[in-house]
Amino acid sequence: RNEIAGYKDCKSIAIMGGTFDPIHNGHLVTAEAVRHRFNVDKVIFIPSGRPAHKKNKIITETEHRYLMAVLATMRNENFEVSRIEIDRPGITYTIDTIEELKSMCRPDVRLYFITGADAIHQIMSWKEPERLLSLCDFVAVTRPGYDRERLNGDIREIREKFTTRIHFMEVPALAISSSDIRERARREEPIKYLLPQAVEDYIRKFCLYQDEEKDEVKFM
Ligand code: ATP
Ligand code: MG
Repeated sequence: RNEIAGYKDCKSIAIMGGTFDPIHNGHLVTAEAVRHRFNVDKVIFIPSGRPAHKKNKIITETEHRYLMAVLATMRNENFEVSRIEIDRPGITYTIDTIEELKSMCRPDVRLYFITGADAIHQIMSWKEPERLLSLCDFVAVTRPGYDRERLNGDIREIREKFTTRIHFMEVPALAISSSDIRERARREEPIKYLLPQAVEDYIRKFCLYQDEEKDEVKFM
C-alpha cells in the first residue's frame, strides 16, 4: 500500500484531519481547492481515532468512517486516506500525526494542515503548538463573509511568534456539515448531492445515522 511505502515522491502534501462522520462534499471541495492553490502533490485525509476507553463500542464506526472516506476519494488520484490516527491507540494529537506522517516523507517535504478557521483561535491550546507550527503551514478555511479582521487580530501573536505561515481560504461549500447530514439521514430527508453517491449508498446499505444521536463523545 502507498501508505506503507510512504509518500517519498511527494514534495508537498496537504493534510485534512477530521471525524468524517460522514465525509461530505464540503471536505472534498476544500481539499481540491487547497490542492490547486498550493499545488500540492497529494491531499491526505486522516480520519480521527477514538480514545482507548471507548474502543470496544466504537470500532465498527471507525471502520465505517474510514471506508466512507476511501469511497469518497476513489476518483481523485491526488487524494489518499490514511489510517495513522485510526490505528494508533488512545487519544491522538495533531503533533503526533504530523510527525508520524513526516517520517514517511522525504525530509524536505512541505506540509499544509487544513483546518476550520475557528480552530486557529485555539491553536495555542493544542499539544506542543510551537513545534506544530514549525513543522507545517496552516490553511484556515472560512465561510465567505467570515470576520477575518477579528481572526487576524487573534492570531497576530501567533503570526509574530512563528515563522510558519497561516493561509486563509474562503470556501463556499463550508455550509455543508456532517452533523446536518446525520440529522437529515435520521429524519429521512434527502442527503443527495451533499456527499458522493457512493457514500450515500454506503450509509443506506449499513443503515447508518438512523437513531437519535446519543451522548457519544465527539472529536474534532
Ligand atoms: P461535524 O458537523 O460533526 O462537526 P464537520 O462537517 O465539521 O462535522 P469534521 O469531520 O468535523 O466535519 O471536519 C473535518 C475538517 O473539515 C475540519 O477541519 C473542519 O473545520 C473542516 N470542515 C468541516 N466542514 C467543512 C466544509 N463544509 N467545508 C470545508 N471544510 C470543512
Ligand atoms: Mg465540525
